[in-house]
Amino acid sequence: MVERPPFRHAVEALTYLFNPERTTCDRPPAARLADKRRSEPGIMSGLDGAATAASATAMIKGRLTPLQMAILTCRYAPVRLRCNCKSDCCSGWRTNPAWREAVSYVAFDAIYQATMGEGANHRFASAVLLREYGKQKIALTDLGADLGMSLGTCTNQRRRLLDWLLRPKGQSDKKNKNDSLARSALPLGKEPIAFAAAEEALRLGGFIE
Ligand SMILES: [Zn+2]
Repeated sequence: MVERPPFRHAVEALTYLFNPERTTCDRPPAARLADKRRSEPGIMSGLDGAATAASATAMIKGRLTPLQMAILTCRYAPVRLRCNCKSDCCSGWRTNPAWREAVSYVAFDAIYQATMGEGANHRFASAVLLREYGKQKIALTDLGADLGMSLGTCTNQRRRLLDWLLRPKGQSDKKNKNDSLARSALPLGKEPIAFAAAEEALRLGGFIE
């Protein structure tokens, strides 16, 4: 039994749980050093740590939809993992396959759910997500042009997708008659909803305060 929650907050927990290099029993020296720096006994190291991580992950998976899991993977899983393949062309890094799959999954749902309408394209939606989550410098208008999309369509689809995914609570571009913002007019983005669900699961499980 751990006497206090192993994580300080949900962001720390999710960053840990979605990182395959940190949830193994044999953690990299840098992570063990971080435990020392935090002057904690290293609750999350060794076999106990692996068991705690497994039960926290199960708790989240049990309460979130596959789309919500994919969205949180896009945000919190590492984009790249270390690579030891030793081939001549190896840079020492490879794209995290779980992260790349999650981007593809979210892109498919975005096409259907974000009502991107005519001309919605998986490659374009993926590119928007790779920019948002992977910080990749992709020229969306160039890609759009290759796919036969007008500049206006590119702009419109990007905005719809990011609104659907990220729109913060209470944000609205509509106003009521008395000039107050119509706060319930637009739905909360999928990512803040997923994050809140994960945070609740972690709190219920005693993994965060
Ligand atoms: Zn390699």
